This record gives sequence, structure tokens and C-alpha cells, in this order.
Amino acid sequence: MAEAGPFKSSTAFCAKCGSILPLLQEFGSVKCYACKAVYDPDSFNNIKFNYTIHFNTVSVINNDKILNMDNPEGPVVERKCPKCGNDRMSYATLQLRSADEGQTVFYTCVNCKYKETENS
Ligand SMILES: [Zn+2]
Ligand SMILES: [Zn+2]
Repeated sequence: MAEAGPFKSSTAFCAKCGSILPLLQEFGSVKCYACKAVYDPDSFNNIKFNYTIHFNTVSVINNDKILNMDNPEGPVVERKCPKCGNDRMSYATLQLRSADEGQTVFYTCVNCKYKETENS
């Protein structure tokens, strides 16, 4: 009787013929040598790991739109310059008024340096 032996956690027995099954591989199913029964690896591992990733979404402007965080004038977003038509403008935010009224965003065209402000 070796059922309670130290290798119990890594040894499985075929439910059909009782033979010792080969060790579970990292990938793929396990096949009984004696009766050829195939066992899904999931049946050996009832512990499932669930990873939940929480993203910080504090940015007013979608992070996907920020193309260059290293720009010295600030992050660059897709925004059409009304002066030269370039579609890349850097922005900076400034809290000029009370928090209830939002903040002012300064846009600067990366091409012609045209500046405009927008109150959010
Ligand atoms: Zn078997
Ligand atoms: Zn421009």
C-alpha cells in the first residue's frame, strides 16, 4: 500500500485499469500505458490561477492617443493644428480655476508651435 506515499501528489492512477499513469507533462494530455485511456491535464490540476490586472485610468486623454511621452513640451496627442494642418500636438494641463470647473489644456503644434487652449 503506497497510496499515501510522498509521491502521491505527482502520481496519478488510471481510473479505468488502475495502472500508474506517466507523470503529467507541462503541456499535453496524459495517456495510460496499459489501456491507452487519455486524460486531460486539467483533470490533474483543479487549481486555477486567475490574474486580474487593474489599469490606472486617471488620464483624461486616452493613453492610446499619447504617442510620445518624451516630448519636452509634453505628451503628444492626435490633434489637428488649425493653423498648419499638422495632426500632432503636444499638450499640458494647468488647473487655473476651481476643481469643479475642470482644468485648462494647452495644446502646442509640434510643427509650427501654434498654441491653443481648451477648457475641459
Ligand atoms: Zn489505464
Ligand atoms: Zn501647426
